[in-house]
Amino acid sequence: MNSYDHKAIEAKWQQQWADANLFKTATVPRTPEDKMYLLTEFPYPSGNLHVGHWYAFAVTDIFARYLHHIGKDVLFPVGFDSFGLPAENAAIKRGLNPKDWTYSNIDYMIGQIKSMGGMFDWDKKVVTSDPEYYKWTQWLFLQFYKKGLVKHEKTHVNWCPSCKTVLANEQLEGGVCERCGSAVEQKEMMQWNIEITKYADRLIDDLDAVKWPEHIKEAQKNWIGRSSGTFFEFPVSDFNAPVNIKVFTTRPDTFYGVTYVVLAPEHPLVQKLRSQISNWSDVETYIQKANQKTDLERQANKEKTGVRLNGITVTHPATQEQIPVFISDYVLAQYGTGAVMAVPAHDERDYEFANKFDLEIKRVILSESDTLPFTGKGSLVLSTGFDGLSSQEAADKITEKFGQKATTYKLQDWSVSRQRYWGCPIPMIHCEKCGTVPVAESDLPVRLPEMAKIEMRDDGKSPLAHNTDWVNTTCPTCGGAAHRETDTLDTFVDSSWYYARYADPLNENEFASKAALDAWMPVDFYSGGSEHTTRHLLYARFVYKVMHDLGLVPQSEPFIRRNNRGLILGPDGEKMSKSKGNVIEPDPVVEMVGADVVRSYLAFIGPYGEAGNYPWDPNGVVGIRRFFERVYALRDKIATRDSVETSLAINTLLKNIRTDFEQLKFNTGLSKIMICVNTIEKSEFSKHTFGQLLIVLNSYAPHLAQELWAESGHTGFIHNETFPMADESVLAHQSIKIAIQINGKTRSVLECEPGTTRDEITVRAKADPEVAKWLEGKEILKEVYVDNRLLSFVTKG
Ligand SMILES: [Zn+2]
Ligand SMILES: [Zn+2]
Repeated sequence: MNSYDHKAIEAKWQQQWADANLFKTATVPRTPEDKMYLLTEFPYPSGNLHVGHWYAFAVTDIFARYLHHIGKDVLFPVGFDSFGLPAENAAIKRGLNPKDWTYSNIDYMIGQIKSMGGMFDWDKKVVTSDPEYYKWTQWLFLQFYKKGLVKHEKTHVNWCPSCKTVLANEQLEGGVCERCGSAVEQKEMMQWNIEITKYADRLIDDLDAVKWPEHIKEAQKNWIGRSSGTFFEFPVSDFNAPVNIKVFTTRPDTFYGVTYVVLAPEHPLVQKLRSQISNWSDVETYIQKANQKTDLERQANKEKTGVRLNGITVTHPATQEQIPVFISDYVLAQYGTGAVMAVPAHDERDYEFANKFDLEIKRVILSESDTLPFTGKGSLVLSTGFDGLSSQEAADKITEKFGQKATTYKLQDWSVSRQRYWGCPIPMIHCEKCGTVPVAESDLPVRLPEMAKIEMRDDGKSPLAHNTDWVNTTCPTCGGAAHRETDTLDTFVDSSWYYARYADPLNENEFASKAALDAWMPVDFYSGGSEHTTRHLLYARFVYKVMHDLGLVPQSEPFIRRNNRGLILGPDGEKMSKSKGNVIEPDPVVEMVGADVVRSYLAFIGPYGEAGNYPWDPNGVVGIRRFFERVYALRDKIATRDSVETSLAINTLLKNIRTDFEQLKFNTGLSKIMICVNTIEKSEFSKHTFGQLLIVLNSYAPHLAQELWAESGHTGFIHNETFPMADESVLAHQSIKIAIQINGKTRSVLECEPGTTRDEITVRAKADPEVAKWLEGKEILKEVYVDNRLLSFVTKG
């Protein structure tokens, strides 16, 4: 008689599961086939769990529980990506220490995550700001350094004047800082860069080996931006020393159409040629303006600007013509060679620029239309020695005679220096005598010092630079006075390897043991947000490849399957934001209807494997709650036997729902459970059948399933039960045969599972070729359905 008291039920079972350490991960899986490493991107400890976190963790938990029930040894860990700017900014604002702020948020969020009832093994927790973790981040950095992949160099960087730190291109959104929204400036600074570009080809080519959705692979390929083409060199005429401008082009067939050359404003040659540039002050003003713009602004599709370098020409290597040279900010120094040959007749951007500056437009590729620019391929004209050749043939021959085959990438090296306190210290030491030297591995971790007050000054340095006790140290090489590097690592370095640590998070002697890595890696399934496609996901693949090359990990790809999940929108269909007042806080909803309802509602909202946008629907939540109240009431209706309908319904469910789980269609899976319940609640069902239903339901609503399992006389934890197999013999003999009649004549017989709805039968009947041919072109006047027996169409004519 008592009603479904979710609060009491959820609290009771969470306690019992914890007491029994029910979700402890196997140390090593029984066999490689039995292991399933299920990963979801770990959260930043912002201090409050939002609906997005629930969608990330609670719905993935449904999958984890299913995999466990079918007999997999599941590693399903959780942790915190806990270094980073927001903690530091919030701490400065509130006058707190970032560490205190971060760790109290973590404690609070652990409580919130526990309220989901997930099967997380908390002994596997990883927190990136723990010295036990960042010791290994530093150790890995040193291995990269020793392999020659780390450079300390003057770099052109994005600088956020408000956060007072360098940002990677990946951390800009439309030219502004993604953290604070400030306009970003350009600066030259000494930076630590990791040479991800050396892995560009492998990062593209190895995508063939992973089972990822094509759109994610494509996004990574575009980001890396590999293009094949040709280098040409244009010698500067009449200069006091031989100087060549090297350009990259993907269209060597248009070589004879070059009428000017453009350099990036920051190209080193511009300074080198200065003595011969007669309009230097104009040039200098233009360079300064370009320096204020971000790469994105410079590439935006707007009117092209530039300045001609008066007094400078280059000689075309084939025609010997004298060609003018410009600087323009649409050319970026770090892409290709930082210089382009301009072919206005055959390139949109060059055409626009040539018209603006009244430059020669020379057509060298024929096409049927006279319109310029013509950017397609065709046969060559005005190209001495190559006239009449196709673009394809000419490209090879011109490259052979005048150029050099080349591949360029848009991907740039990974700038990892951050001038902030709350991050992993870079384990390097600067000595006047020895230069920059690594900290001895035996001295790791270089601990972040406790600082009473974190203060950002305008000197472009990390607050660590003002902590002289910490900065002053001795040189590991000569023993003389030296000082520590004060930049900290970008948090994307912290998160680039955390999945490997999950395999063995308590290990004090290694980042993870070989046995643990062999047992658990690679990640079988990785669920995350689409915003990480060209950032975290690319860095993690790169880092894992280097680790593999160093002999540290067993494979060269860390993630076999990847799924970008969708976004939960506010009830108004807009992205949730405080300013719009449409944020759904999960805690009060859980309080009101229970974690099981919230988990299941989020699963029901749409297919988890497709990155759609789903508005939060309060009525949908109520619908799930009502359904669970009906399930709860079933405990008073258990009979001694199953009716035929019950037997068919449960076995149909057991047979079909596996596919829904495996395809991440937790929404249709829950519909199937509802269909089964619709049947059995009107019929007779046994304790055994009820138990089977509960094991299926346990993935979605583990507290409710466990409570009913105990209430209906089953013993032990339902978590330990095996997912039941369908009794195929029941299904084979008991399918329902429905005659499909047209104007009174039986034309076909459909075999359906019991419980198939009239709508579904109608759809299937119309798709049946034997029926379709009789209905083709006819207007249906009437449809008659007799339950489980007959569907009859009456047509006109
Ligand atoms: Zn900022
Ligand atoms: Zn030294």
